[in-house]
Amino acid sequence: MDLIIVGSLGLDDIITPFGKATSNLGGSTAYASLAASFFIKPGIVSIVGNDMPRKNLQVLKKRGIDLEGLSFGKKTFRWSGFYEYDMNEAKTLKTELNSITQFNPILPNNYRNADYVLLGNIDPEQQLKVLKQTKKEAFVLIDSMNFWIENKKAKLLQAIKKANLVLLNDSEARQLSDTPNLVKSAKQILNLGVDYVVIKKGEHGALLFTNDDHFSAAGYPLENAKDPTGAGDCFAGGLIGFLAKERKTDLPTIKKGIVYGSAIASFCTEKFGVENLIKINLDDIKERYEIFRKIREF
Ligand code: AMP
Repeated sequence: MDLIIVGSLGLDDIITPFGKATSNLGGSTAYASLAASFFIKPGIVSIVGNDMPRKNLQVLKKRGIDLEGLSFGKKTFRWSGFYEYDMNEAKTLKTELNSITQFNPILPNNYRNADYVLLGNIDPEQQLKVLKQTKKEAFVLIDSMNFWIENKKAKLLQAIKKANLVLLNDSEARQLSDTPNLVKSAKQILNLGVDYVVIKKGEHGALLFTNDDHFSAAGYPLENAKDPTGAGDCFAGGLIGFLAKERKTDLPTIKKGIVYGSAIASFCTEKFGVENLIKINLDDIKERYEIFRKIREF
């Protein structure tokens, strides 16, 4: 297995100004693995309860996503949230961790040699347990969110120190580093020993910081944004899926991966849940990638 993706897998209730959905397939691994699967077939490491409809798992299987690393507990993780008119930030109504609280990730043997590891949004203690079972040389991308920054900051910082690339949205970066300035925030995170910090700015694109470089990816001018849930996970999955396919982690490849991640995230936002991700193909994504390139030329 070249790429493994760790994170939540669950059911989401979502309200946006453009509609609502109940018990949608969600969780960070659902979005990230679907996004990565345009480039490479990943394996996921997560847990669901027996109440998870099997048709949801079929959606992932159909895309060639490996489920050997999926454990089964009693009750599935559930998240409900809403978005206000600008839709840049999810407001959580309820997080029911359920089986995630008992999750003790044990990697199948063929996952342990993965060269690429996406530590998606889940309890940082579980992210750390996964890293104990993977290769030291693996390229690790870590994503998280306000919930874990508030509840498990020390463990999250430990996990971040072991990662090569840290991905956060702007408000999470400010919260993690206790500064309103994103440049200072990125520097603080780089000082923890990571190589790349990517700060997502919702519809306004994403910023990449290294110790001596800076790159800014445009936001795609979407006319019909309906539900941004999972856009961040699609960004992460698209980015690391591309790196894993190219088998490179140098700066030019990371920049291309960021644009691919942004393109997939923009498709995700156009429909509720994973609806668009199971409709589009790599040609659609490449077409949008070219538009991203044009937007940046001057
Ligand atoms: P995002 O890409 O940030 O929009 O992530 C959306 C996904 O994150 C949703 O499908 C939720 O199920 C999942 N999620 C929400 N809260 C948490 C949490 N505390 N831990 C793990 N996953 C979560």
